Amino acid sequence: MSSAFVPLLPKEAVAALPQRAREVVEYRKSGLSLNHVQGCPLGCAYCIRHTYGLWDADRPRALMSDDEAVEQLVSHRYFRPHDTPLQVFNRATDPFLPGVRSHLFAVLEDLDRRGLTNPVLVITRGHVDVRDCEQLNALKHVKVTLLFTYSGIDDKRIEPHPSGIAVRSMRLATTYGPRRYRTIFYWRPLVPGVNDTAAHLARAAGLSKWADATVFTGLFYRDEIADYYRANGLPEPYQETTRRKIVPETLEERILAAFARRPSNAPPLFRKTSCAVSYAHGLPDYNGHYGINELCDICPAAQLDRCAQVHRAPTVSQLQEAAAVLPEAAGMRVIKVTERAAQVEGLPSEQPRYYLQHRFGFQVHDAAHPHRQRRHGRAEIGWENANG
Ligand code: SF4
Repeated sequence: MSSAFVPLLPKEAVAALPQRAREVVEYRKSGLSLNHVQGCPLGCAYCIRHTYGLWDADRPRALMSDDEAVEQLVSHRYFRPHDTPLQVFNRATDPFLPGVRSHLFAVLEDLDRRGLTNPVLVITRGHVDVRDCEQLNALKHVKVTLLFTYSGIDDKRIEPHPSGIAVRSMRLATTYGPRRYRTIFYWRPLVPGVNDTAAHLARAAGLSKWADATVFTGLFYRDEIADYYRANGLPEPYQETTRRKIVPETLEERILAAFARRPSNAPPLFRKTSCAVSYAHGLPDYNGHYGINELCDICPAAQLDRCAQVHRAPTVSQLQEAAAVLPEAAGMRVIKVTERAAQVEGLPSEQPRYYLQHRFGFQVHDAAHPHRQRRHGRAEIGWENANG
């Protein structure tokens, strides 16, 4: 375990970064995300870092001090104490890389000293040791979830970092106890023809017992990532790019079948990250997926009940009132609110929509990007026969 911190970038170097990389607080679907350390040597070909203009940053660097970063986070207009789900270092580095972990713990301990009880998601494929577990367990207030990314992809050109490291970390973190933090087997990205053979699915189903819950999800195949695949002669997983994750219907059916063969007391499987995280802490889903009830057919009964009890559609005026504190939402119009979701238009980005979604624990959809029945907010690839 290294206690070293990563080097601090000079101000001129920070100013020269792409604009999105300089925005260290950003709302993503699973939470308000803090990213003041950026750069990663693990080299996954499908890394989201491509889309931030940061692919060449293969050594972690800090853009500011941890104190300054936490201050930016908790004073952000999207931050609500004890409520907003948070994520630390989920976009441009791995939180358990040597050096980066010191920043991770500095952030977690600062939030905890403030007495904040917000959920905090920490996604890693790195090396977690027993001292990390002790340090995580010493946090008294924040609700930490460790999500261990595992794909089972063997092609070293796509994923040079060995999957076995995340598996060992997950086993250790889950068997450590008693513990306050929770663990998730984060099975992704699933790509047809790459890591979805019967053997891959059976292996993942077997590994799932080493976590409190499992989530499966597909690949974000964006233009920048497709360009990288092409430039490096990597086998292209899809012929087109999308703004959503891709999980074809037949793949989902095969995953559900593989997991159905596990013992009846095995930890549950979820389609959505926030569902798994919420379940693991005994809380209703903070993204309000319960409204999209076809998502819930694989959810344990006690969890369904938790979500049912808090499921309440906000009124149009409640949505407008909540949006009124956000200058960027001045042009928002609520088109309709049903039991499933609110539909809005006129938002400049996804960030204020996530704010509203978490504020009400209710799905808020953008009319410009309609959600299709049964596709669960995923890309259309592989769902051609579903009803619109
Ligand atoms: S009941 Fe539905 S919304 Fe709630 S956690 Fe389960 S799957 Fe998610």
